[in-house]
Amino acid sequence: MRKKRLIFLILAASLGALWGQCSRVANPLQNLSHGDQGIVSILGPSLTKTGQELPFYLRTKRLAQKERVQWYVIGEGEIVSSGSKAIWVRGLFPDTHFFLVCELYTSNDVLIARNSRLIRTFRQAVVLKADDFIPDVNSHIAPQWKRFVRFIREQNLCANIGVVGRFLEHPPENYRLYLLALARDARFELWNHGYYHSLIYGGDGRVFSEFFARSYRFQYEALERTQRVMKEKLGTEPHAFGAPGNLFDHITVQVLQSFPEIHVWFFGKNNGRQMIFPRTVEAEYPTGRPNLSVFATGYDPEEELVVLQLHPAMWDEKDFGEFVKIIRFLQKYQATFVLAEEYYQYRKWIQQNVMPRDSHKDFWRGGRLH
Ligand SMILES: [Zn+2]
Repeated sequence: MRKKRLIFLILAASLGALWGQCSRVANPLQNLSHGDQGIVSILGPSLTKTGQELPFYLRTKRLAQKERVQWYVIGEGEIVSSGSKAIWVRGLFPDTHFFLVCELYTSNDVLIARNSRLIRTFRQAVVLKADDFIPDVNSHIAPQWKRFVRFIREQNLCANIGVVGRFLEHPPENYRLYLLALARDARFELWNHGYYHSLIYGGDGRVFSEFFARSYRFQYEALERTQRVMKEKLGTEPHAFGAPGNLFDHITVQVLQSFPEIHVWFFGKNNGRQMIFPRTVEAEYPTGRPNLSVFATGYDPEEELVVLQLHPAMWDEKDFGEFVKIIRFLQKYQATFVLAEEYYQYRKWIQQNVMPRDSHKDFWRGGRLH
C-alpha cells in the first residue's frame, strides 16, 4: 500500500503546477485501475472550508461486513475515517485542492473498487456575478465579454453569468454556440437573469419591470420561460436567479416558491425556499465602473461569502484593468472564486450533516453567513 501511495503522491505533485482555482483538473488516479468504479461513490460537497470539519460518505451496494473501506487524501488536509464515513479534519491552506480517495477491498485485500473526488478548500468564497450576457446589435458577442471570459479561463477562476431568456428564443448561431461552450465549461455557471430584462423608467420616476408591480402570472411566466429556454437551447437548467436591476416585489418572493430547482437568489429576499446571496460590497461604483478603492473600503476579509456584481459589457480598457486589480487584491487575501451552485451545495451539506438542528436558523435569511 505504501508504495502505491507514494506513486499517487508523486503524480499529484507533478500535477500540482496545473492545479488551478476552478477547473476540473486531471485526476492523478485516472490511469490506474479503479476496479468497478460504478459501485462506489463519494457523497459530499466539492468545497471545504479551512478549519471546518466536514463528513464525506461512501455509498455502495456492495459493502458487506467482511469488506474493508480505505480512505485517504492526496494533497492538503487530513481525514479520520470509520467504515463508510470519513471526516476531513484539518486544512490549513485556503484556495488549494485535494483529492479524496475511497477504496473498497475484499477481506483478502483485493481491490474491488476505487473512486475519488477533487475538492477545493476555501477561507472566503467569492462569487463573480456577471450580468447581462446578451448579443450586441450585430448579433455578435461583444469583445468586452470575450475579454472577460478569456481572463476567467486564463486565470482559472470561476464566474456566474446572467442570461436573459428572450435572446435565446431564436438565437444567432454564434451566440448560442458561445453560450453552449460556457455551459459546458466547469469554470462557468449560467443563471436566470429574467426573460425581458425590461427596465423602463417613466417620466414620473416610476419603474416598470417584469418583476415589479406585475401580476403573479406575468412574473411566473417570465421566470419559467427563461428556465425552459435555457434548458432547451443549452441543455442546462439554471439553479440561480437574479432580477434585472435587482428590482422585485412581494409577488416575486411568492413566485420563486414555485421554483425549487432555483437554489440561489442573488440579492433577493428570504422566502424559505431559495438561499439568499447578500449584497455586502460593491466592485463597481458607479454601475459598470469597477473601482478598487471603493471596493477595498467596503470589503470585509472575514465574510465567508462575497458576491461581486459586474457588468463586463460596459467596461473599457481602464475599467477592465481596475477589475483585474480587484481580483489581485482578493487573491492576496487568499479568496477562492466559486460557482453559486457549489457554494450552495456546501452550505446545504453543512446544514444537513454538521449543524445541530435549530442552531442555524439564519441560514436561509441571507445577511451574514458564517
Ligand atoms: Zn441586468
